[in-house]
Amino acid sequence: MIRLIVISILFLSTIILVSLAIITISKRKIVGKSAIYLACCLAAISLYCFGYGLELSSNSQEEVIFWVRFEHIGIQFLAPFWFIFVLYQTAHTKWINIYSKTVLFGIAFFFYFCSQTLGRLNWMHKNPRINWVHGMPIFDYDATPIMTMAVVYMSLLVITCFLLLTMLMIHSAPALKSRTLILWIGSFIPWISELIYFFGFSLYDLDIAPIAFTISGIIASIGILKYNILTVVPLARSLIFDGMRDAALVLNLNGEIIDFNYRLTKIFPFVNHHAVGKLASDVFASHPEIQSLLESNKISKIEISVNQNGIIHFYQVNQSELNDRSGNKVGYVVTFYFYTEIKKLVNKLEEFATHDQLTGVNNRRRFIELAETEIKRSIRYCRFFAVVLFDLDHFKQINDRFGHLAGDVVLKAVARTCQEGLRSSDVFGRFGGEEFVFLLPETNLDDGQFFAERMRSAIQNLSLLEFGIDTNITASFGVTSYESQDSIELEEMLRAADQALYQAKFTGRNRVCSCPVEKSNLQH
Ligand code: GH3
Ligand code: MG
Ligand code: MG
Repeated sequence: MIRLIVISILFLSTIILVSLAIITISKRKIVGKSAIYLACCLAAISLYCFGYGLELSSNSQEEVIFWVRFEHIGIQFLAPFWFIFVLYQTAHTKWINIYSKTVLFGIAFFFYFCSQTLGRLNWMHKNPRINWVHGMPIFDYDATPIMTMAVVYMSLLVITCFLLLTMLMIHSAPALKSRTLILWIGSFIPWISELIYFFGFSLYDLDIAPIAFTISGIIASIGILKYNILTVVPLARSLIFDGMRDAALVLNLNGEIIDFNYRLTKIFPFVNHHAVGKLASDVFASHPEIQSLLESNKISKIEISVNQNGIIHFYQVNQSELNDRSGNKVGYVVTFYFYTEIKKLVNKLEEFATHDQLTGVNNRRRFIELAETEIKRSIRYCRFFAVVLFDLDHFKQINDRFGHLAGDVVLKAVARTCQEGLRSSDVFGRFGGEEFVFLLPETNLDDGQFFAERMRSAIQNLSLLEFGIDTNITASFGVTSYESQDSIELEEMLRAADQALYQAKFTGRNRVCSCPVEKSNLQH
């Protein structure tokens, strides 16, 4: 009865393995070459199962020996086939060439040849004998060094496969993990059976290796049929997705994380395999800007900054829809575009475009921009404000006497002195050459004059002896203010301030003159 059950299981396994081998080989067009090696491996296991079934059905030692020899076709070649299959799967194709194949199968053929001496020279199986257990002929022998070598060779191949698959599993993208796991489990099962057999736990001393290999073969084939692991697509996807310069996150329609690439884990270490299946907005709770983008379910773009090991990096985060081939929305893709370099460049360009290179203060264009905004605000809230323009006196002489570089030092020192005396709402800029300008919100004409006087005296008291400039720098100031509710253009204010400045120059320099602006005055 037991004999019948065991033999039936072995024959059934043979049928399943042969069928799977045929299906696998039929898929080689989409799958590629690795399908051929898996199919050959399945065929080898089927020979092993079939031979073992007939070995157990035998009634004499001669018959048993015949079928043991037959089984060795499968036993010796299944590991090299499996090995090459795993090399393909783990993208180690560079190891596969005519030389490696010759060595792999050459060694296997040597052991196969040795196994065929059973019954005569017995190079592999010394003292072959049979124990009858429950009517089944259990083949027994003493292992020879060649047998030990064959077992070591097979084990080395299987161990290498196991390690390669383990590495692949560690490094593969989350979505691929379950597929790799299938293969990994497949490569693990023969180990258990070997251990059971080795420690003598096996039932009636039966060789359970054929069954273990069958299970592995079936699992690997399920991988192909169900998860399509053999297609190059997952591997290519993994290489492209993980090799991307940008970080990427894939969400389903519920906003749950289904995949992410390696780059993303470098930016956000908290996105690991535990995050798969969780709501992305929960996972990104520590980054409110990203969280609200994820919660919005909108196609939009934001800019974020992330502190990575003490360095601030900038990313452009882009959320877009993910559609399948028929155009149905199936989820979202969020990409994180590395933006730091561009951001730095943009900042630099902005700095160039808005600031004076020599003194570092606002340039004319930027001053006008800021002043116009401030004027609009002041008029809207009916607030007064003042414009102060000043020009250094006889600056040409400074240049002539001390040199142009010394002139530059003076300009820098004057700009610094002016900036020190400013409120945060005041706008200051270099208007051109040795002319500077202020826009002072909430300041009437008196206050503007007072401010200008303070600046004038600060400039006059500047000591630049350390730069070899042994003369006082002075400047002439023109002040104007606006205290009406009508709208006014900055240009009109500047014209009035310039008039006052001209007056200051004309009446002896190093002084403050003022000229109030009134619409009625300006009209003529
Ligand atoms: P005034 O009192 O009438 O204003 O006399 P001034 O000599 O200051 O006036 P003028 O307009 O004749 O000369 C301005 C000088 O400022 C001429 C120019 O060489 C100098 N200047 C303009 N920009 C710079 C600069 O960036 N660096 C230096 N060193 N000199 C500059
Ligand atoms: Mg001047
Ligand atoms: Mg000038």
